[in-house]
Formats: sequence, C-alpha cells, structure tokens
Amino acid sequence: MIIILKSGVADAEVDAVCRRITEMGYAPHVIRGEFKTVVAAVGEERGRPDLRLLEAMETVESVMPVQQPYKLASREVRPEPSEVRVNGVVVGGRAVVVMAGPCSVESEPQMREVAVAVKAAGARILRGGAYKPRTSPYAFQGLKEQGLQYLAEARKQTGLPVVTEVLETESVELVAEYADVLQIGARNVQNFTLLRRVGEMGKPVLLKRGMATSIQEFLLSAEYVLAAGNASVILCERGIRTFETTTRFTLDLNAVPVLKKLSHLPVVVDPSHGTGHWDLVAPMAKAAVACGADGLIIEVHPRPEEALSDGPQSLKPSKFAQLMRELAPVAEAVGRAL
Ligand code: PEP
Ligand code: MN
Repeated sequence: MIIILKSGVADAEVDAVCRRITEMGYAPHVIRGEFKTVVAAVGEERGRPDLRLLEAMETVESVMPVQQPYKLASREVRPEPSEVRVNGVVVGGRAVVVMAGPCSVESEPQMREVAVAVKAAGARILRGGAYKPRTSPYAFQGLKEQGLQYLAEARKQTGLPVVTEVLETESVELVAEYADVLQIGARNVQNFTLLRRVGEMGKPVLLKRGMATSIQEFLLSAEYVLAAGNASVILCERGIRTFETTTRFTLDLNAVPVLKKLSHLPVVVDPSHGTGHWDLVAPMAKAAVACGADGLIIEVHPRPEEALSDGPQSLKPSKFAQLMRELAPVAEAVGRAL
C-alpha cells in the first residue's frame, strides 16, 4: 500500500505516520517527491490490520494499493525518476553516465593505463572485476583483494569512482571498503541473501539482469535491495539468452523503455556482454542511448588480445574514445548530454 500524505506535512508528522505503520506490523519507506511525500508500507497484509485505517489520520490524503508485486521499485510509488549519486556522479539525471574499464583487473599498470585512457575519453566511472564469476573453474578467477587495491589506486590517480562485482555474501564488507558501486552480476541476480546483504550496506548497487530473468523477476530482485533500506539501485540490461548463436547474448533493448515505464530506477546498458564482439559494441551503445538508457557500462582493455577475460568483446582505448565522440550527438538528439 502507499500512503499519500497531504501537501506540506512536517517531518514530525511523517514520522508519526511511519510509527503508526510500524505498530500495524508493516515496514515504512518514505519517498519524498517533488510535490508530495508518500510512505510505502510493505509487508504481508494477511493477519494484519487494514492500512486503509490510516485514512483517518489528518495528515493522510489517501491510501492506495500498489498493483505490481514489486512495490518500492515501481513507478506507482514514485512517479519521478530516481537519481543515484556515486560520489559526485549522478546516474539517472540528464547526463548519460559511461562506466568503462577492463572485464578483469589484471595488474597495477593495466588498471592505471586503462583508467587514464577512459577518463580522458569522458568516462565518469571506472569498472574492473576483482572477483570474477567464470563458467569454468579453471579460468582466471580474479585478483581478489589485490585487484581491489589496484582499483583504489586507479581511483586515487584519476578521481574516477569505481564499480566492481561482489560475488559472495562473505566478501560484501571487504568489497564495500574499496568500491563506490557494488555490482551484482547476472549469475547472482536471484541470490537473495546477497541482495539483502548489499541492501544493508547502503552503497550504490549496479544490479545486472540475469540471462534468463524476466523483467518482473528483475524488478523483484531490485526490490530485495530497496526493501533492505538501500534506495541507490541502478538496473543494468546486459543481454539475455535466446536461440541466437551469432552473438554471445541478445541485448534486449526493449528492456530499457519497459523498465523505465514500470520503475523509477535508472537503467544502464552493457553492450559488451550483450553482444560479445567488440565491433558490435559501438552500434548497440548508440542504440541504447537513443532508446533512453541513463548510462552504459563498456569493457575497455589496453591490449584486448592479451586480456585474461572477455578480450573479444573489449574495445581498445582508441576505439572507446571514438565511440565517446560518436555518442555525443546521439545523446543530444534525445535531449541528453554525455
Ligand atoms: C562483468 O561485468 O564482467 C560480468 C561478469 O557481467 P555479467 O554478470 O553481466 O555477465
Ligand atoms: Mn566481462
């Protein structure tokens, strides 16, 4: 249920409504919009008092059910788009935010070289995996904490905030010490314990859609993070599995306008994993911006032929810089900036 408060209610009155909701056995989440403050009351309704009773409070305008199974993630609860702040970078505002860097953190010089190059080209956030989810147990699994340290050094040198994947619940705290954004990978999109844990950390979360995750399941996964008290969730479309084999995955760009219709959360697109081929990254990146993506996450490696993971889909820094130049007019054409 959402409890819509009358215009101009004071903070103390919002607190009073929240207290009442808690007494009734639900969890209150305050959402402050431009014009109105609403409180989402979440929790199982069976066996609990009817929230419509709150309409008796003087500060409450109305109480309405939320139709969708995800509540805090839905547009019904928050009609305006959400902005997620990553240090000084705003994801979900007018500017399209580009995150770039290698698939895996491989060494200190590799990270430094790529960080300087993507920053010069206009990337706003640095990516790099220190914990890698690999299909084969014999493939490179990441440099782990050493990799996190290289990321932190690259951040110090360039000032770029860092997004990196957290693979297991046990390493959430350690990864959060270094990362500015915690990435939940496609394979973990329904790891509910991990989702709850990153929700408790309060750091921005980049949640990747699973390769076989429906939009509804994806938004329910986001709901786990939101319900744990973390409002800073960025959704990421990274390709789904279809019958098609010429590309690694099928980048589902439908997901961008669909997610933006159903949810207020910012949406970014990963054309690197979505295609699996470096030469398909630029056209799909442009298409993603054209259809309304709030950002992109792109794999860039100084020498893709030597990459320890995902070399075939990684752009060289020069190609990335060219893409950034070509993206600017696309962004402008849809009322955005880079
Ligand atoms: C990655 O970003 O390198 C990655 C492993 O992505 P995904 O979880 O989308 O496969
Ligand atoms: Mn990768």
